[in-house]
Order: sequence, then C-alpha cells, then structure tokens
Amino acid sequence: MIEEDKSLNFIEEIVEEDLRNGTHDGRVLTRFPPEPNGYLHIGHAKSICLNFGLAQKYNGKTNLRFDDTNPVTEDVEYVESIKKDIQWLGFQWAEELYTSDYFETLYQYAIQLIQHDLAYVDDSTAEEIAAAKGTPTEPGVPTPYRSRSIEENLTLFQEMRDGKYKDGEKVLRAKIDLANPNMHLRDPLLYRIKHAHHHRTGDKWCIYPMYDFAHGQSDSIEKITHSVCTLEFIPHRPLYDWLIEKLEIFPSHQYEFARLNMTYTVMSKRKLLQLVTEGHVESWDDPRMPTISGFRRRGYTPASIRNFCERIGVQKRENMIDVSLLEFCIREDLNKTAWRRMAVLDPIKMVITNYPDGQVEELHGENNPEVEGGEGSRMIPFSKELWIEREDFMEEPPKKFFRLGPGLSVRLKHGYIVECHDFKKDENGQVTEVHCTYIPNSKSGEDTSGLKVKGTIHWVSVAHAKKAEVRLYDRLFQVENPAAEEDFKASINKESLHIIENAYIEPDLANAIPGKGYQFIRMGYFTLDTKSTPDHLVFNRTVTLKDSWAKEVKKG
Ligand code: ATP
Ligand code: MG
Repeated sequence: MIEEDKSLNFIEEIVEEDLRNGTHDGRVLTRFPPEPNGYLHIGHAKSICLNFGLAQKYNGKTNLRFDDTNPVTEDVEYVESIKKDIQWLGFQWAEELYTSDYFETLYQYAIQLIQHDLAYVDDSTAEEIAAAKGTPTEPGVPTPYRSRSIEENLTLFQEMRDGKYKDGEKVLRAKIDLANPNMHLRDPLLYRIKHAHHHRTGDKWCIYPMYDFAHGQSDSIEKITHSVCTLEFIPHRPLYDWLIEKLEIFPSHQYEFARLNMTYTVMSKRKLLQLVTEGHVESWDDPRMPTISGFRRRGYTPASIRNFCERIGVQKRENMIDVSLLEFCIREDLNKTAWRRMAVLDPIKMVITNYPDGQVEELHGENNPEVEGGEGSRMIPFSKELWIEREDFMEEPPKKFFRLGPGLSVRLKHGYIVECHDFKKDENGQVTEVHCTYIPNSKSGEDTSGLKVKGTIHWVSVAHAKKAEVRLYDRLFQVENPAAEEDFKASINKESLHIIENAYIEPDLANAIPGKGYQFIRMGYFTLDTKSTPDHLVFNRTVTLKDSWAKEVKKG
C-alpha cells in the first residue's frame, strides 16, 4: 500500500495512479538518457534526481542509456565522466545501455514502416524539404519522392545502409501528414546518412537514426514505464506515440517537466563546450562551471546538490531558480560537516611582545564543534609571532570595531586575549607589524582573567604556518540570464577568479583530505583542489560564509 502524501510532485502522482491501476504490472522502470557530447551540468542533476528518485521511491529501477546517435560530437571521455558524476551524486543504474546497441533493431523497425508504406526515401535537399514542409499556418506539399513504391524504398534504404550515397544525398522520412498543425508530424526525418566513425560501432554504420526515431523505440525496447523528459519535447510526444503505435511495440509513455534554469549561468552543453574550447575557463571541471564535476572540484557535496533538487521540486512550467538557493544548500551542509581550520589570506604580522622568545604551545581545537565530540581535534601551535588578517587591524578604528587597533583587545581563537599597544608602518604608510601583549591567564578553556572581549580573530603561527594558494571564485557571468543576451560570452565576469598566491594556513591543513570541506574560520568554506600537491597546496573556496550578494542588493 502506498501512503498518501500531500507533497507528491505531479510525476509521482502519475506513477501512483499507474500503480493503483496495475499499469505495467506495478513495475516502475525509468531511464536517464544523456547524449555523451559533454559533461553533465546541474540541470542534468535535476533529471537524475527525478528519474533515480522515482525508482527508489517506488521500488523500481533506472537504466543509464547513452543516447549516442550523433557520431561526430560524441566521445568516450564524456561517457566516463557521466558515469562518474551519477555515481558521485549517489545513484546506481540497473543497466548501462547504449542506443547504438539498438541500431540493428531500429533499422529493422524502419524496414517495417516502409513495408507498411509508412516511410519513404527522399532525395530532396535539406532546404527543399524545409521549403516543402509549409509553415505552422500553411500546409506542406509532398516532394516528388513521397509516392515511391514500397519496393523502391526498400532497395534505396538498403543502399543507404550499404554506403552507396554521400552525406545528405537521401534521408528516410516517416509518411504521416503534411498538413498536420504539429510540424513534427509533417513527415519527420527518421534516418540520415553520415559517413563518420562512431565511438562504439566504429565504421559499421553510415546511416544514423534521428533522435525522434531512436528515443521512443529505445524506451520501448527496454520496456521503460515512465519516460521523463523536459518540456521542449511536448510537441514530439505525438510522434513518440505514433511510432510506438505503428510498430506495435511496448507502450512506453513520455512525461514532461520543466528544465532547470539558474541565474548567472548557462546550462547548455554547447555553450559550456565553447567556454572550455575558447579558454574562458580552464576545463569542464573548472570550479566556476555549472557542471557536476565543476561543483565537485569546488567543494560541493552530493547531499547539497540532491537537497537543492529536492527543494526546487518538479514543475510543469519553466522558471528561473536563483543560484543563491544552491549556495544556501551547500552552506547548510558544510556548516554541519566541514572541519574548522584557521587560514590567513591577507597577512600582517603580530608580535606578542611579552610572550617568551622561542616558546611554542600546543593548543587544541575541535574539528567540528557542530557535532557531539567534535569529531576529534587537531593541534595548533602557538608562538610569539603570528599572522593575522590585515582587515582585523585598523590604525584608527571606528566605534564598534571589535577587532584590533591601538588600545583594543581581542581573543585569539583557541588562544589568549591580546591587547594592542603599538604598530609599525613602512615608508608607504602600510602597516607591517602589530604589537600586542597577551594576558597569560586568559587561555581559552581555562580563562581566569575575568576579562570580557567582544571580538575573536583567527591567526596562524609564523614559524609553523604552511603556504598555500587560495582561489576565490565569483559568478562566471555578470547578468542574471546570459543565455538571453545576444552574445552570452559578452557578459562573462572577468573577475570571476581571484588567486591569492601566498596565504598562510595552519599546519594541519597540509594533511587536508581530498573532497573534504573545511571552514576557514571567518573566511568561508574551502576544499583542496584536485590539482593540489604537497609541494604546492591549492584550496578552492566553495562558498562564502554568508550570502554576500544578498547584502549588496540590500545596500544598493
Ligand atoms: P543540453 O541542451 O545541455 O545539451 P540536453 O537536453 O541536450 O542538454 P541530454 O544529454 O540530451 O542533454 O540530456 C539528458 C537528460 O537530461 C534529458 O532527459 C534532458 O531532458 C535532461 N536535461 C538536460 N538539461 C536539463 C535541465 N536544464 N534541467 C532538467 N533536465 C535536463
Ligand atoms: Mg540532447
């Protein structure tokens, strides 16, 4: 028995209705059908969560089907990346399948249509076909080839397969209705000639099925019960149904939901490919890319992305999701899971004048104060000279500046209270050193000083700090909807990457675990870059601690 759930999305409602009616014997089999012509993006994550989520919820299965009918743009590199990304998101497919495995079956289906006088070989050029198709308000007219005999069509189609014709010389079209208001039913193309090497079938084929002829038939071959795709395929559905009906094959059904659109990014593989090939980003997994691999490298967790997909839900109408919702999801996750560390991104030196020369204390800090037990702790060396953040000192601090300035006191995180009594400047007026005294009995956890200070700042010991490169990312585009611009690349944010070459990090960060999130206290969430090495540590900022953009909007 399925429990009533008020918050079902409309596809779940359809599935539950089918289960109640015993449609498909109570079976749920979905599929995720990527074309291996690029890396998966966050929009694909929505489709993955939906398809795999339905199967999980209703005790069904999901196939991974590579829709590999375009030999020219597809590649095994993409196949591998897609598999890795789906698994990383936390899903496992029942079967790994390829449309190209069905090429022979699809070819036989095409012959079946020809035999029923439902398909014909057309010698017209692409332009002639387009011209004869009419417009949405005017019916099309038949080309001279529409009346070819079944025998002639069978022979020509065989010859197309045998490689007798050049690219574009002939196509196979369904014979449906040239006056249909739905342009997709005006004798759509089923096969085209393409003499190209396919990454799986090699040179075996020189004719390739069109999406509309491959997709529904593949669903049917696999006995997919609920074929979920995005809204732009609504006008294709009558053709999907027509082909299944005429071929008398398993009645898969297509259902459409709204694709994910997100602010300040583009979501088409074609555009993302341009960003890579034209060098606007480093690679498909550049941390600024909206690809799953980009988010992974940036430090997003699978749970945060699944959670985001859950929150945005499944709609029947297109909308635009604010990227700050995704940022909210990763912050929420990392706040619970990230290990706390200290790193100084823009250092100035602090000297504790009354601290013994050469003395080193081992302070301890919990890894994760958000959980009971703190997930253990790490040792933080403390000494006379520390790096602190430049912005934590002001020569002439305004009121309510609860950090350092002449006469002001702060607590050093996990350490002592210090009071500033002096500072040094260079010839340019830049502050180079801050001089403080510490209160020996104010140590964190055993403070008997009775002093109260409002601010706590982070620091690292000069003698023990490690160096690291830290990369700060911002939005890749300056406008909310770059895809709507005449040239989406004109709105690329030139300041989307800021590299800090020499940040100082606490020594334990040299052992940072790849893939783990770290909160650099007060500075944001970070993760080790995939290209970091022990000799050259590199950290990526996943997200800031707070939504700095929201603040700016309010200020404005
Ligand atoms: P793109 O236009 O980015 O190349 P696509 O639709 O051509 O995307 P496919 O590899 O064919 O990419 O897509 C695989 C599945 O993912 C399809 O079912 C498709 O509908 C779905 N999908 C693609 N983009 C989105 C999106 N932005 N939101 C939700 N689902 C998407
Ligand atoms: Mg596609």
